[in-house]
Amino acid sequence: MLIDFLGRTLDYLRVSVTGRCNLRCIYCMPPEGVEYRPHEAVLRFEEILRLCRIMAGLGIRRIKVTGGEPLVRKGVVSFIRALAAVPGIEQVTLTTNGVLLDRYLDGLAAAPVSGINVSLNSLNPETFRRLTGCMSGGDAASPAAIVKTMERVRSLGIPVKVNCIPLRNANQGELADIAALAEKTVDAVRFIELMPLGYAETGESIPGSEVRSILERRLELHSFLSHPVDERPGNGPAVYFAVPGFSGRIGFIDAVSRGFCETCNRLRLTPEGLLKPCLASGTAADLRALLRSGASNARIAEAVRHIAALKPASHHFSALSDGGRKNRSDTAMFRIGG
Ligand code: SAM
Ligand code: SF4
Repeated sequence: MLIDFLGRTLDYLRVSVTGRCNLRCIYCMPPEGVEYRPHEAVLRFEEILRLCRIMAGLGIRRIKVTGGEPLVRKGVVSFIRALAAVPGIEQVTLTTNGVLLDRYLDGLAAAPVSGINVSLNSLNPETFRRLTGCMSGGDAASPAAIVKTMERVRSLGIPVKVNCIPLRNANQGELADIAALAEKTVDAVRFIELMPLGYAETGESIPGSEVRSILERRLELHSFLSHPVDERPGNGPAVYFAVPGFSGRIGFIDAVSRGFCETCNRLRLTPEGLLKPCLASGTAADLRALLRSGASNARIAEAVRHIAALKPASHHFSALSDGGRKNRSDTAMFRIGG
């Protein structure tokens, strides 16, 4: 088992398979895009699988495949299938912007993927375009098409959650409509506070407490958001609420105003093979260097244990912030794997 110095059991790994993306969300990537790392710098799928087998042997039980946009990487569905078959791995889930999801959904269902999170910040085509910089992609890149795909995900029996970042002067007026997707379309809608990483200064975050007030007012629910339900689908950091008449839950990840570090159970692997103990940590193990220098599984396992033990007690966004400007793209979620 991987246990850090605070006694937290680390059994969850987020694997970013690419830093590339077909969108340009304003808080994540600059509109002109970013310089992509050379192909050879990125771990091959066989390399990631070897690392995951080693980490499964150390107690990793659940893996989230993320990016960048994971579905833009060729072969990702076969990779997920292989990952789901790794002994010890109980769940493989995916986080996606949803644009290419319909195309790959049947393969993902067969893999099988245990759950899909779709990031969707607006149901309004114009706001969606403004927030994602999406000029092309045809119908697939419209919020309506993404909602339709999510309905199909659910009809296949795959749990589907929406991740939404509330932003002032952007999606503020439609948060209740987005929350209403939990009425019958998705299993949960989660509102996540924007974290001061990468290009986040491009958006103004709305704190979770304010979102709860907006929803109570707009959905005419009196104080329903003061009694969280005692469940943690996905065992993540979200706090969930049951809403009368809704089949799904509404969740909040108050990443900045409350934080969730004391229960954090995750490690992160970047596309270039850096294993990080925390989103906002400068510490990392260079697993690519170990893999490519012929290190044994035992040597790699030792490096993983070492990094797990160094997991900080809590994140230090401020240490990264230098206004975030100097190395902005290094701290952006598309690079670390959101
Ligand atoms: N492209 C996929 C997607 O958008 O779901 C997966 C990768 S993306 C980096 C993962 C999640 O990170 C998305 O839900 C995105 O909104 C979120 N994200 C990006 N930058 C963020 C920030 N500064 N604070 C909070 N969440 C952020
Ligand atoms: Fe791409 Fe996801 Fe970042 Fe948006 S949040 S630019 S979809 S990686």
